[in-house]
Amino acid sequence: MSTQAGSEVKVFLRTRPTANFAENLIEYVDGQTVNVHQKKDSRKGVVNNQLNSWSFRLDGVLHDVSQEEVYARVGRGVVLGAVEGYNGTVMCFGQTGAGKTYTITGASGSYQERGIIPRAIQEVFHEVDQRSTHTFRVQLSYLEIYNESLVDLLASLRGCPGAGPGPGGMAVVEEACGGVSIRGLSLHLVHSEEEALNLLFEGEMNRIIGTHALNKNSSRSHCIFTVHIESHSRTLSEAKYVTSKLNLVDLAGSERLGKIEPEGQMLKEAMYINKSLSFLEQAILALADRRRDHIPFRQSKLTHALKDSLGGNCNTVLVANIYGEAAHVEETLSTLRFASRMKRVQTDPIINQHTDPVLQVRKLQKEIQLLKQELSLHDTMANRMETSYETLSEAQVAEVQSQVQRFLEGSLDEINIESIRQIQEVFRQFKQALELQEQKVKAQLCQNYTLVEKDQSTADSSAAKPQSPSGTVGKVEGRRFGVGVAAPSERHIRSQSPGRTKTLRTKDLTSSPPPKADAFEDFKAEQGSEINRILKENKVVLLECRARLRELTEGVNTTKREIDSTSTTLRQWKDRQQSQGQFISADGVPVLDEAELSLVLRLRDLKTHYRQQYEELHCIKAEVNYCQHLVDQCRTRLLTEFESWYNESFLLPEEVQALLRSGGTIRPGLVPVDKALSLEEDEQEHFERRRYELLADSPSATIFYSAHNRTVKRRNYNKALSQSSVQKTTNRSSQRTKLPAILSVI
Ligand code: ADP
Ligand code: MG
Repeated sequence: MSTQAGSEVKVFLRTRPTANFAENLIEYVDGQTVNVHQKKDSRKGVVNNQLNSWSFRLDGVLHDVSQEEVYARVGRGVVLGAVEGYNGTVMCFGQTGAGKTYTITGASGSYQERGIIPRAIQEVFHEVDQRSTHTFRVQLSYLEIYNESLVDLLASLRGCPGAGPGPGGMAVVEEACGGVSIRGLSLHLVHSEEEALNLLFEGEMNRIIGTHALNKNSSRSHCIFTVHIESHSRTLSEAKYVTSKLNLVDLAGSERLGKIEPEGQMLKEAMYINKSLSFLEQAILALADRRRDHIPFRQSKLTHALKDSLGGNCNTVLVANIYGEAAHVEETLSTLRFASRMKRVQTDPIINQHTDPVLQVRKLQKEIQLLKQELSLHDTMANRMETSYETLSEAQVAEVQSQVQRFLEGSLDEINIESIRQIQEVFRQFKQALELQEQKVKAQLCQNYTLVEKDQSTADSSAAKPQSPSGTVGKVEGRRFGVGVAAPSERHIRSQSPGRTKTLRTKDLTSSPPPKADAFEDFKAEQGSEINRILKENKVVLLECRARLRELTEGVNTTKREIDSTSTTLRQWKDRQQSQGQFISADGVPVLDEAELSLVLRLRDLKTHYRQQYEELHCIKAEVNYCQHLVDQCRTRLLTEFESWYNESFLLPEEVQALLRSGGTIRPGLVPVDKALSLEEDEQEHFERRRYELLADSPSATIFYSAHNRTVKRRNYNKALSQSSVQKTTNRSSQRTKLPAILSVI
């Protein structure tokens, strides 16, 4: 996105010609500086003929300067920027009669004295004609803001798209790109300077008619004439296009209330003007302060409508119109103050570039075509066979297929790489070959084994008695399998070897065994049901023991706390007595008073109770350890047996397959099981399940769960260590008959 170097808003001063220019009060120095002197107000108790002086530095002083020069210095740069794609704003500010309308629109009926708008229109169309490389679309709108209501000065023109306020009335709306537009404001496409001028005059006429009809003062409204420009490149099929808005703004008179007290409608108008101009000033102050991230644009229609035309990414120029007479010096000062604030606003103009999606696609298609041509050119230059970058034809696909076949058989050493599409086809053919191979293996296995459907297998199983899974492969037969969604395709394979019935179980010969997690659930319900039942019972006992242990620990701790608080109370009692003097019996023996005695007795009872509880705690701890051991043992057995059963039932090791192919016998062996033997209950099972679920297809999951198991083992080992050391400590403590510290609840 192109940008112009960031700068400040440009500010010019223009004086309305007068024979009574107050030379002693307004002083122009070096064409850019204005010094203003003002007599001190005698009403404020000040000395005769004393002066206050102010100095303002601007971008230029337009004093006794023609309309043409004003346009050249103020307008031309902004207008040319707008043709390039930068937003631009020229704004006239000042008290009523100071020459704002004269500057922006000019004296009606005089070509010589035409203002910035007609000259800008002329320049825009001149540029449009000059730039034959681009097509331009120029549209106009003319908005008036009067007493905070929006008026379309071109609404009178019929048949214009967008004309008329519509059901919601006119309103300033924010656009997604951060700009603003006026809903209901008519936009008029113009093709020539003349058409555009017609619209300007039409708008001017409507402004005057409105003034009479509503009996309003024309200088009490703000007017924004906008030229909307859109340009597309003609030569390149360029999808990018630029848009810009050129706002030419004639602000309402800035004079303050006060000199003549207005009434009725005049008062209302004055209030709105004061309000909108002071909001404009606030927005400008905020814009000038780079630290501010919120600018109050929405406070008035004027500031909201000018949101994207004040500073920011817009070329902005302000003309401060003043009277040259001494009588107006106060208003002149206030105009100059506004101007110097405006000058501090920073601008960062950016070309408003957009992309036309339809053109973008067309452009990319063309680029692809060019690149293809370029590639074939390179192939020719490199003496390569003509490479096609198009989709492969049927004949080409058949050729690739044959190459892959020959490569797999070994009659072709390598496949030459020709193009990306050819490589992709090679991969596709490899995949097909692999699938074909799998089907062949399946067919081969089917020749060696009889397929038994699941229903038949279930019938068999009702007759067969379930046995321990640690026997031969044959013993697995008869078990009902629940392998989730894969169940319908489940098969029994019965060996055809005479005299020996070998049955293997598999979901499908071409697919993998059932997930271990599911198989584990099945196993627990059937072959492993007995050991699983014992495991469950042991777990229940273990849980009960733990609950008792927890309860007892809490009890011991409560007693300990009571002992501590009773001891403290007793100590405090004794301390108090020491300071107050102690009772002594007639024979000089210290006498305990009743309260103290009861504390001593209570302490003794508590200690006895504590010892009993502690003994009990010790016993129950041993019981918990024992139960834990039983549970661990059961679990290990369950898992070990499951592993054996699973391996025998579902996995066909290489040597087994070889044996099957050769018609030999199978002697299954136990597959070693790596189990964490002392995992926490449930947690262990949970992680086993997760491991089985993820093991098959995710190596990182395997690593994760191995690491987890190692951590759990280490934790349990540390726990065992710390438990034994706690035990040692408590043993030692009880030998010394000292009460242990508060115990943590297990
Ligand atoms: P504003 O719009 O600020 O209220 P106008 O532009 O209507 O003031 O100017 C008031 C009068 O002064 C108009 O008759 C206008 O022609 C005249 N005038 C203002 N500035 C100039 C100028 N620079 N040269 C000649 N006449 C001017
Ligand atoms: Mg005016």
